[in-house]
Amino acid sequence: MKIGVLALQGAVAEHANAIEAVGARAVIVKNADDLAKLDALILPGGESTAMRRLIDYYELLEPLRTFASRKPVFGTCAGLILLAETIEGEAAHIGAMGITAHRNAFGRQVDSFETTLPIKEVSDAFPAVFIRAPKIVAVQDGVDVLATHNGEIVCARDRHLLACSFHPELTDDLALMRYFVEMVEAYQ
Ligand code: GLN
Repeated sequence: MKIGVLALQGAVAEHANAIEAVGARAVIVKNADDLAKLDALILPGGESTAMRRLIDYYELLEPLRTFASRKPVFGTCAGLILLAETIEGEAAHIGAMGITAHRNAFGRQVDSFETTLPIKEVSDAFPAVFIRAPKIVAVQDGVDVLATHNGEIVCARDRHLLACSFHPELTDDLALMRYFVEMVEAYQ
């Protein structure tokens, strides 16, 4: 199984390591041709505004929209924002997932924190690192809420699309990556 990591900006190497650690092949994605060979894609954390500029520069927006309409995508933190169909106060980017994102919902960089969350079907106690993280303020019908933190939605699944507010690649716990790989297997 080949899982790409969009490598324009952000936490790329950490995701690639996690993909390989669960036994899949990690592919670094920099252009539309790279997408063709993939079974699934990860949109990493970073800064969604900066990523969007690079997506436009490399003419990746339409290829990413097409990919997300057909194949599994996992968006983490800024990647969640890229996937959301609606973003409070600004226009959507890829816009494939039936969620509304609210950026920087947990405060500034200095307010970054780590906590342990139960994630439905994934883990009873998942270590979740939040760095200027978004929250999900609304989900459409059919979207499965997988985790909340203080009542705020921080992980959800919409069909073949998975998103979380936190950074699973920054800890050693591979449970969420395994869950994504199982999603990809089931989808094939
Ligand atoms: N605050 C960033 C954004 O709005 C996301 C932060 C992250 O990915 N760690 O894009």
